[in-house]
Amino acid sequence: MLSRSAIGILRSSSRGVSTTSSGAKLTDVLIVGGGPAGLTLAAAIKSSPKLQHLCTTLVDAGDLTGKVAPFYDSPPTSYTNRVISLTRPSKRFLQDRAGVTLMEDRIQNYDGLYVTDGCSTATLDMEQDSMSCMIEILNVQSSLLKRLSDLQLDTSSFQLLDKTKVASIEYSTPNDAGSWPLVTLDNGEVYKTRLLVGADGFNSPVRKFSKIPSRGWFYDRFGVVATMKLEYPPYKIRGWQRFLPTGPIAHLPLPDDNATLVWSTTEPLSRLLISLPPEQFTALVNAAFVLEDADMQFYYKQLTDGKMSTEELLADIEFRTEQVYDTLQVQDLVDEVYPPTVKSVLGETRARFPLKLSHADTYCAERIALVGDAAHTTHPLAGQGLNMGQGDVEALLNALEHAVSRGSDIGSLLALQPFWADRYPINNMLLGMVDKLHKIYGTDFAPVVALRSIGVNFINSFPPIKNLIKGTLSESGR
Ligand SMILES: Cc1cc2nc3c(=O)[nH]c(=O)nc-3n(C[C@H](O)[C@H](O)[C@H](O)COP(=O)(O)OP(=O)(O)OC[C@H]3O[C@@H](n4cnc5c(N)ncnc54)[C@H](O)[C@@H]3O)c2cc1C
Repeated sequence: MLSRSAIGILRSSSRGVSTTSSGAKLTDVLIVGGGPAGLTLAAAIKSSPKLQHLCTTLVDAGDLTGKVAPFYDSPPTSYTNRVISLTRPSKRFLQDRAGVTLMEDRIQNYDGLYVTDGCSTATLDMEQDSMSCMIEILNVQSSLLKRLSDLQLDTSSFQLLDKTKVASIEYSTPNDAGSWPLVTLDNGEVYKTRLLVGADGFNSPVRKFSKIPSRGWFYDRFGVVATMKLEYPPYKIRGWQRFLPTGPIAHLPLPDDNATLVWSTTEPLSRLLISLPPEQFTALVNAAFVLEDADMQFYYKQLTDGKMSTEELLADIEFRTEQVYDTLQVQDLVDEVYPPTVKSVLGETRARFPLKLSHADTYCAERIALVGDAAHTTHPLAGQGLNMGQGDVEALLNALEHAVSRGSDIGSLLALQPFWADRYPINNMLLGMVDKLHKIYGTDFAPVVALRSIGVNFINSFPPIKNLIKGTLSESGR
């Protein structure tokens, strides 16, 4: 495409990439961001019979070739801490349209979610065979890099510029939003692109350049993640989530006796959880699924004030937990309603991330498209963020294929609009749903607890609504 339409201003550079007379390198698609969204788009374009001829460039600030790509061929024996729930449509898309072979032995399918309320006995048992799978983000990214490397593309077809930051963006003709964007990198190189894709995360420089407004707020909550070793492999391979008034805690399976944690909580508590000795942290994770919120608040206070030793904490949690287990009487019931006990937390895997809601007013402008976290971010309680990004990439790919089949300019608003029309409503619905859940569960005010418990118990015993929720979670974003 590039060689025909831009022929008047092209000359070949030594690296096989065309340049303008002013020295800017020409590309059809410039993707900023080599996270899951950007890499998926690059691999999908290069795997698409209709789009593979497009000269494509991907720029990322991180060390993709030195730190991410080697994960595929020499993975660590333990699991890394950024693990996400990948839905079946997202996995199918990665495999079928981006041509990726994921590291299957590091993926764990799970059969639904068991959701409880930290302030009442309300329970939502969403059992479903292979509802979704847990996968490390590094597995997704390194598998995509492997795919791009296996395609053996020459530099006139695809360039990966990692450890390189976008320094500035401007229009090649000032004040003409239809002109090709000029992207200056921190190594001094300048790229002129027919289509600029922002897959550059929450702080998206591309979104800022486009002047597309983005709305939202910080939740004043942090997501604490960790990789955990269990006392024994789970009896049921499912995700466990308990809504505490400070935020939900989720215990999700990895292969064998491994599991991953996402504990959303307040800023001070997240700091406390990260700073505690591993034995205390592990004990609190186990306690959070069994004990009352009042017990947890007592422990947080004692630990913050340095008034409780590890021995005292462990003994107290064990005593109170046994009391709760005794009320169930049968061991099988304990295994049914509580997640397997965590034995330890792996070395340096504890980390925390600020949680926020954001949504761009649109995902495209002339010559610009936004995908993934650049367009929207959400609370992780429903495990949708990365999946929504995969849905965006699929829709953008479809729009580009359609434009190329019709001989249209892939950077024109006409070509891009179907992509955002496809994605905005579903993403908006998911963002709103997750935000409401966060709010409904973020209180221990008795009337609200009573109402939500009635609602949850009703849903749990009414399959049509329960199936609708399961469908939304497992097929989300599509
Ligand atoms: C605690 C937690 C749990 C989560 N769990 C789930 C889950 O279970 N399921 C799910 O679907 N999602 C989950 N998410 C969300 C998911 O992690 C994100 O939605 C996803 O990783 C975003 O991917 P992305 O490619 O859009 O953006 P990012 O991963 O943020 O990638 C952006 C890239 O852009 C690059 N970049 C930025 N600026 C520049 C620049 N100026 N120049 C060059 N490069 C630049 C960065 O280096 C980065 O590599 C979770 C999130 C959190 C915080």
